Amino acid sequence: SNEKQILSADEIRRALVRIAHEIDERNGGLRDVVIVGIRSRGVPLAERIAAAIADFDGTRVPVGQLDITLYRDDLKLRGPAARVRKTDLPIDITGKTVVLVDDVLFTGRTVRAALDAIADLGRPARIQLAVLIDRGHRELPIRADFVGKNVPTSLSERVMVRLRETDGVDEVVIQRG
Ligand code: 5GP
Ligand code: MG
Repeated sequence: SNEKQILSADEIRRALVRIAHEIDERNGGLRDVVIVGIRSRGVPLAERIAAAIADFDGTRVPVGQLDITLYRDDLKLRGPAARVRKTDLPIDITGKTVVLVDDVLFTGRTVRAALDAIADLGRPARIQLAVLIDRGHRELPIRADFVGKNVPTSLSERVMVRLRETDGVDEVVIQRG
């Protein structure tokens, strides 16, 4: 087949629990942490990280979401531009540690748009990035603080992230182009 599994359901679960602990360790606790998922699949991942934190810490960290759309119509001129469509943050982020969460980090343009959107909404103390998969091919100086799995890919490959909430099953597979 042209599909190869790179993370099983159990490996996804363990990666998210590890990231939850890393967020705690990096920030010396979770008091000022706000987790913000990038739609669509960053949102269930953000919620699962928050649930993992509740399991080991008893703390309910706030979870919000950003909806960012890539406009590829100006591809020839400047490359794809990313813009924010919808924002739903539960609390004022000023002074907080915002942890952005997405399923796949690729060129970095989506995260860049998310950073712009966050900057419009308040002034966090710091912003960190958690991704389930880093597939490489960055076009901007952006890196993730917390990574489930680094997966070197060719440009013709596609990473399929399937989650219970959106796809009925938990797995990550790589598809040859
Ligand atoms: P970037 O903006 O870094 O180029 O791409 C990241 C965004 O596009 C993420 O929101 C991610 O969901 C999506 N994306 C980019 N490449 C892939 C991929 O290979 N597989 C999946 N599932 N999503 C991708
Ligand atoms: Mg996405």
